[in-house]
Amino acid sequence: MASKKPNHVVVMAFPYGTHSIPLLNLVRRLAIQSPTLTFSFFSTSKSNQSVFGTSSNNNVPSNIKPYDVDDGVPKDFTGPPKAEINFFLKSMVQNYRNGIHSVYGDEMKMTKCFICDSFLYFGSDMADELGVPLISFWTAGPCSLSTNFYTDLIRQSITLGPNGIDGREEELIDFIPGLSLIRIKDLQEGVLYGCLDPEFSLMMHKMGPTLPRATAVTMNSFAELDLPILEDFKCKFQKCLTLGPFTLTSQNPSHAHDDPNGCLTWLDKQTPTSVVYISFGTVTTPPPCELAALAEGLEESGVPFLWSLKEYSVSQLPNGFLERTSKRGCIVPWTPQQQVLGHNAVGVFVTHCGWNSVMESITAGVPMICRPFFGDQRINCRMVSDVWGIGTRIKDGVFTKAGTMKCLDMIFSKDKLREKVGALRGLAKHAVGPKGSSTKNFITLAEIVCKD
Ligand code: UDP
Repeated sequence: MASKKPNHVVVMAFPYGTHSIPLLNLVRRLAIQSPTLTFSFFSTSKSNQSVFGTSSNNNVPSNIKPYDVDDGVPKDFTGPPKAEINFFLKSMVQNYRNGIHSVYGDEMKMTKCFICDSFLYFGSDMADELGVPLISFWTAGPCSLSTNFYTDLIRQSITLGPNGIDGREEELIDFIPGLSLIRIKDLQEGVLYGCLDPEFSLMMHKMGPTLPRATAVTMNSFAELDLPILEDFKCKFQKCLTLGPFTLTSQNPSHAHDDPNGCLTWLDKQTPTSVVYISFGTVTTPPPCELAALAEGLEESGVPFLWSLKEYSVSQLPNGFLERTSKRGCIVPWTPQQQVLGHNAVGVFVTHCGWNSVMESITAGVPMICRPFFGDQRINCRMVSDVWGIGTRIKDGVFTKAGTMKCLDMIFSKDKLREKVGALRGLAKHAVGPKGSSTKNFITLAEIVCKD
């Protein structure tokens, strides 16, 4: 009798921020390609509910099975979300092991491969224990992966005195391939300074050395965007596979119809390239003074705008702003962002520079006004403004009325940025085309994950 072949892939998702959705996008493509394999998607119950429970994601192939792992938060805990994340981080290694073991037990040996969010560094130990491939999936850009990978080198090369980075903010990280325009102040907290959350920084630091152990490090980007960084990764990692932009490869067509707030209908009534689209992603909201300054800048500029703004922030807008701008402004708590950016009425994206937003803007050929807040947002912003030249940074890093107006004026009066982002859009489209780099990389990945 023929021996049974490994028949399942263990997928481990990081349950916070916009991490699970791009991972599910990737797994969906693999699952469609390989219907006889089961892809077991492990994440916390909250994250699984939001990812698998929404109408936009309910066309998940039947060979993807969500399973919950304990989030580590005590039952009676009522503190802030940030504290919840710390509980998760402290217990995640054991909780993922327990969750996976409770599903598979002795069948663990039938695991074909692991696909893990790169944050979950312990995936490499789990894959090694079974002697199977590990696919590490980095949900952000090559630039931030590089600073995480080279954290020790950065710490050794830049010795900080008692004043920390004060006075040295503008120094360049020019000793790392592809990062010659990145400044100290662009680094993520926890790489060199500002250890805002020790558990999180420890996780990121532990991740770096595990990357070369992965059979492939994969990401939602395309090869032509960051050649020097990716060339360097090719020497450091066993395989480095850019697979995106996921906006162009997603096999989730139902997403296109989710527009409960009528944003696309509203955009249909606007003139081409005229609308300012504003969103700060799923986690970030600017402080009230900046929301007010941004609103004043929009009002004074007289531009039409579509603003994805959480309901609790609407009351922080200046008195009478909603009434005065009602004829040319649309404020909603959620937009179908990919479709919004792809609409020909949108002329500029005011963004926090989360990686998914940056990719979606490039894919749509829309230049950006950047107001980064934390994490990889600052380095993404630097790439957008200084390296790729497809956007501008808000002056002094915070919204003021004058600064907002200046950026809007600059984007609408200069065609150069639009031309450059249009060129990148062309490269992105080519990358996912029949002979493109991302298509070839996906074939390589599918061979590792799915082939007998
Ligand atoms: N998004 C959306 N509608 C909104 C706000 C955000 O569809 O009104 C989506 C956006 O398209 C992107 C994601 O939420 O895919 C935000 O991810 P990003 O990495 O930019 O930021 P994060 O939320 O992780 O800070």
